[in-house]
Amino acid sequence: MSTTEEVKVPDIGDFEDVDVIEVLVETGQRVEREQSLITLESDKATLEVPAPNAGVVQKMHVSVGDKVSEGSLILTLEVAESDGEAAAGAGGSQGGEQPAADEPGDTDASERPAAASGPEQGAPAPADADTDLVVLGSGPGGYTAAFRAADLGLEVTLVERYPDLGGVCLNVGCIPSKALLHAAKVITDAREMADHGVRFSDPTIDTGRLNGWKWSVVKTLTDGLAGLAKRRKVTVIQGTARFAAPHELQIEDADGKARRLSFRQAIVAAGSQPASLPDLPDDPRIMDSTAALEIDQIPKTVLVVGGGIIGLEMACMYAGLGSRVTIVELTDSLMPGTDPDLVKPLRKRLEKICDGVHTGTAVDQVKANKASLSVTFKGENAPSRARFDRILVSIGRRPNGHRIGADKAGFEVDDKGFIPVDQQMRTSVRHIFAIGDIVGAPLLAHKATHQGKVAAEVAAGERRAFQARVVPAVAFTDPEVAWAGVTEQEAKQQNLNYGKGVFPWAANGRALGMARSEGQTKLLFDRDSGIIIGAGVVGAGAGDLIAELALAIEMGADAEDIALTIHPHPTLSETVGMAAEAYQGTITDLYMPRR
Ligand SMILES: Cc1cc2nc3c(=O)[nH]c(=O)nc-3n(C[C@H](O)[C@H](O)[C@H](O)COP(=O)(O)OP(=O)(O)OC[C@H]3O[C@@H](n4cnc5c(N)ncnc54)[C@H](O)[C@@H]3O)c2cc1C
Repeated sequence: MSTTEEVKVPDIGDFEDVDVIEVLVETGQRVEREQSLITLESDKATLEVPAPNAGVVQKMHVSVGDKVSEGSLILTLEVAESDGEAAAGAGGSQGGEQPAADEPGDTDASERPAAASGPEQGAPAPADADTDLVVLGSGPGGYTAAFRAADLGLEVTLVERYPDLGGVCLNVGCIPSKALLHAAKVITDAREMADHGVRFSDPTIDTGRLNGWKWSVVKTLTDGLAGLAKRRKVTVIQGTARFAAPHELQIEDADGKARRLSFRQAIVAAGSQPASLPDLPDDPRIMDSTAALEIDQIPKTVLVVGGGIIGLEMACMYAGLGSRVTIVELTDSLMPGTDPDLVKPLRKRLEKICDGVHTGTAVDQVKANKASLSVTFKGENAPSRARFDRILVSIGRRPNGHRIGADKAGFEVDDKGFIPVDQQMRTSVRHIFAIGDIVGAPLLAHKATHQGKVAAEVAAGERRAFQARVVPAVAFTDPEVAWAGVTEQEAKQQNLNYGKGVFPWAANGRALGMARSEGQTKLLFDRDSGIIIGAGVVGAGAGDLIAELALAIEMGADAEDIALTIHPHPTLSETVGMAAEAYQGTITDLYMPRR
């Protein structure tokens, strides 16, 4: 037995004559309950209208370009009796009157999707709990998305496998690493003042207190997040989640107890984890970045495998704390992809503070002996066998896309584990979004937070897209290296008509006064328009200087805008204005032959 049901546009607030911008189903197609049927777009929001019941589309009454209002007929649905019963069992018959899927502020539990509503499931059983929006993962992407969505009126559940919120960044990434790098820098600066007449005795490092301080910094932030979640009434569930169906997560707690959570929309922010090298012995002295941040003692010798940002930051950290550090990198350059002129001062310094910096070199074999780790290398300039107290493997990060049951929800994950998304951060399943490390490079916290905001706003029905012109990148090494926009290497590869302005820090009073004159500031301009397209800085505090340049690129500033902006004296920021002057040929702090 079956009945025919007319599906109409539900209550969509004050909107009248809204455009149909997408028709997502067709005549003859079977649709599941809550499956999106059409997308509407007003000047303020994009809304999807979900199916009130499962059934087969008998006839479509709208097409793209039509204008509709509340009550407009969308389609006729043939509902089998069993479909109707299943729907009723999961929350009552909905008729054609439920709100659009993306409507902000809709928190009525009766409107939420049926539990276990995947096409492969039988009659759905009710979930243990349900929510408007679930966010999977509480890193910078996830917590930002959860908080923003809650601020926009959605009822939000945040699922995190660990007890503390904040993800990799706060717990085992950006924050603890920068705290330890600060300690290392204080020691290095103090040591180097000896060259300028101020001599301190060698430091005594109490690793217990140093670790304690680092964790107190982390805890201040993670506890702060817990408080912010509470104030926003974001429900936090601790457990490891996997999709069980397009509208359902299965969450397992630390004791192995599972519960099911049904949701209307989801944001996947499950991040990434360190990549490992195969064939290494299982030995606690071989560390990933997480273990390397646990300073239980200062190892005498450390081998850093991988000359990317994280590896080099750790190298600076251990060298500053007093370890003898060796770096090996498989490719021919440190921080591959970064302009060589920016990396050069860093390499020079690393060669001074480390036992060895070997590019074009791979680890061949590692043997774990009682007293040390014995390592052989391969590559043209490979060093001979050497022994180390610790090895840090820092060869990149792998996204967690293959670990969350994406197949059950039906969204795409590529071979590497990244989830493809559009500019609205939607996955290939429209009601599921993904953000942060799990959607691809650059794997940076500030990119994750911005994408989190976009996903939350789109989920709440706003018209938003992630359209950042640049995502600045910073290596918090010593000296720091930072860049934004097009690199000079890319400009060359793409045959761009660019010009550059470079200001060497040897001519900057502040840099000289800090005894750090090895830096440089480089700006790239489009020759036709004079607009800035890229910037790179190497030197102490480069990570802070790049912010102004990211803003300049976002705002489409040209060389004159930057050169005529009065930068305070004496600061490192003057190098930004002067690099623009160098490009213009108006600089007086350097002598440049007339063009
Ligand atoms: C040592 C180090 C230093 C770094 N320094 C910087 C820096 O200075 N600046 C910078 O911008 N970036 C830095 N990064 C990178 C930065 O940490 C990441 O880009 C950022 O954390 C990504 O945020 P995210 O929200 O995508 O995911 P993550 O921070 O990875 O968070 C994902 C969360 O999801 C949880 N999760 C995963 N799977 C599940 C599941 N199935 N169920 C429940 N929960 C799950 C995880 O436990 C984690 O808490 C650093 C990384 C490392 C390792």
